[in-house]
Amino acid sequence: MKIAIIGTGYVGLVTGAGLADFGWNVTCVDLDSNKIERLKEGKLPIYEPGLDSIVEKNLKEKRLSFTNKASEAVKDSDVIFITVGTPSKSDGSTDLTHVFEAAKMVADSLNGNKLVVVKSTVPVGTTRQVYKFIHEKSHNIFDVAFNPEFLREGSAVHDFFHPDRVIIGAETSRAVEILKAIYRPLYLIQTPFLFTNLETAELIKYAANSFLAMKIAFINEIADLCEKVGADVHDVSRALGLDGRIGPKFLHPGPGYGGSCFPKDTKSFAVTGREYGTPLTLVEATIRANEMHKNRMVRKIERMLEGKLKSKIIGILGLAFKPETDDMRESPTITIIENLLEKGAIIKAYDPRAMENAKGIFGEKIEYCDNEYEVAENSNILVITTEWNQFRALNLEKIKSLMKEPKIADLRNVLDSKMAKDYGFIYEGVGRR
Ligand code: NAD
Repeated sequence: MKIAIIGTGYVGLVTGAGLADFGWNVTCVDLDSNKIERLKEGKLPIYEPGLDSIVEKNLKEKRLSFTNKASEAVKDSDVIFITVGTPSKSDGSTDLTHVFEAAKMVADSLNGNKLVVVKSTVPVGTTRQVYKFIHEKSHNIFDVAFNPEFLREGSAVHDFFHPDRVIIGAETSRAVEILKAIYRPLYLIQTPFLFTNLETAELIKYAANSFLAMKIAFINEIADLCEKVGADVHDVSRALGLDGRIGPKFLHPGPGYGGSCFPKDTKSFAVTGREYGTPLTLVEATIRANEMHKNRMVRKIERMLEGKLKSKIIGILGLAFKPETDDMRESPTITIIENLLEKGAIIKAYDPRAMENAKGIFGEKIEYCDNEYEVAENSNILVITTEWNQFRALNLEKIKSLMKEPKIADLRNVLDSKMAKDYGFIYEGVGRR
């Protein structure tokens, strides 16, 4: 079976390389010629642990190829996955421009009875619209399916090979059989498969992401209350997580959720709820709670600097929205840094992987450092915003000797608060006194 992947970003590249590793012949397409040329040489446009080796292996074994010519890839494939981006519009709804551009590329070259699989996260009803759109343009008989992606950046390769479940939204037995065949290696390791109609599969993706975002927003609100009453959010979290009905994951306090999915997907889901006259009030509250929480983080830093941010040097450790990725899309650090800059602070920052992406966002507005200790030099406060492992083992003695004032706002609770205080730091975490 030959497979084309349209959109070679985080999802398209991981899916393409993973399917090639299953033994399929995969062509990944992207409009970005620069990215395609680099990929042909095995150079990855993103940082994702383990991805380089499966790309290299499958390139060498000639099961994986890259092109910017969608037409040839579509004509030459039996199955076409659409994995382009679905960003937010200013009103929170989903911008489907890329999806319909990709659908047009498919329609223009569709020859024969193929399967078109939408994998991009799209609002309920979109896959059916994509089907109609391609059908009207190409007059071809073909099948369609929606197959949501649940990978987590930072562990995307692992998640591709070991998903919790595979959701297949399809309404013809042919589409179901083809997708079952494609994912057969997962079937063999007893991954649960769920077969639903198109709308159900589309809704599952948004419901899952909104629920996870809600868990994070919930524990962050509890963290705030913990600070006020003198409780420890980690104990609360652990106790909650030990309840089998709740589960331990996504109950870690931090500076607020971010990334390429939760912010845009919660907003889009809320819009869908309003459109259908079924307000998703918990999702709406989650979005508000997360915004408020990010602002609370700014106030925490401000308070630790006695309310004076003007000309204060703030050292930021971590820019990516989470560790093990270079992705800065909607990172809570962006909101925090922009707020601090507005209030006149001077920002120095370091992230092990996201420096290039950060330069694209902040330009000359902040100073970029080569490591943690350069950030600490002359800073009035050090703010830990991403829980990269290397920040857990900071040489606190050295850090203290370099800083103007010994202050740490640990927005990920990566340091031992007692140890930080023993070194003489004024230390604040999240949700712990
Ligand atoms: P991305 O921005 O990293 O990649 C999208 C790619 O598509 C880009 O390289 C872009 O150049 C390309 N593209 C756009 N229009 C194209 C076209 N017409 N033809 C060919 N290429 C085109 O996006 P992503 O993070 O991979 O997300 C893709 C989709 O998957 C989104 O809907 C997202 O919500 C969903 N998703 C993402 C993740 C994640 O962690 N990133 C997880 C699950 C689901």
